[in-house]
Amino acid sequence: MKISLIVAKAKNNVIGKDNQLIWRLSSDLKLFKKHTTGHHIIMGRKTYESMGKPLPNRTSIVISRNKDFKIPEGHHLVNSLEEAIQLGISRNLDQVFIIGGAQIYKDAIQFCDEMLITEVDAEPDGDVFFPEFDSKAWKIVQSEQFSKDEKNEYDFKFVIYKRVNP
Ligand code: NDP
Repeated sequence: MKISLIVAKAKNNVIGKDNQLIWRLSSDLKLFKKHTTGHHIIMGRKTYESMGKPLPNRTSIVISRNKDFKIPEGHHLVNSLEEAIQLGISRNLDQVFIIGGAQIYKDAIQFCDEMLITEVDAEPDGDVFFPEFDSKAWKIVQSEQFSKDEKNEYDFKFVIYKRVNP
């Protein structure tokens, strides 16, 4: 099973503030939708709550230490990232996407095979950050530049990194 991580991060690694996203990037939302539709998406409880409900046409796997946390039927509550990945394996999935937030990314970098990173050309204030990663452990296999316009607040680059085999 391929484990993919997807994130939009600023130049200073900020990814959110007050449990919300901090930019309006319509083209990035389209990329997120294109890549994750039809797949299982793994997320922390706070990211799930910031969305309010499961995203359409995707199966949510929500990580929480609270066993009583309620999520709608057809979606899954698990206790740890390891359990989320085991669930994907037991369901014979080809691929899962880890979609955040900061707490989950921190642990996920060691598990994932590829990272789809929207590199936003901005340095906003925020309270959650994408972790630093060792660039030598990753190679860029795709990179596409997007320019700001009326629907996209900032320039950004969509970059796919694959793990370099040791
Ligand atoms: P997370 O979404 O990572 O959720 C944190 C929660 O996940 C914890 O409170 C806990 O839930 C559960 N959790 C974390 N680690 C474990 C573990 N080891 N075992 C069991 N449960 C665990 O929260 P963050 O605050 O880090 O991130 C949310 C922020 O990130 C928001 O601002 C959001 O908008 C932003 N974001 C940005 C993205 C981007 O691409 N720019 C993408 C996704 C989110 P509990 O407390 O219930 O036990």
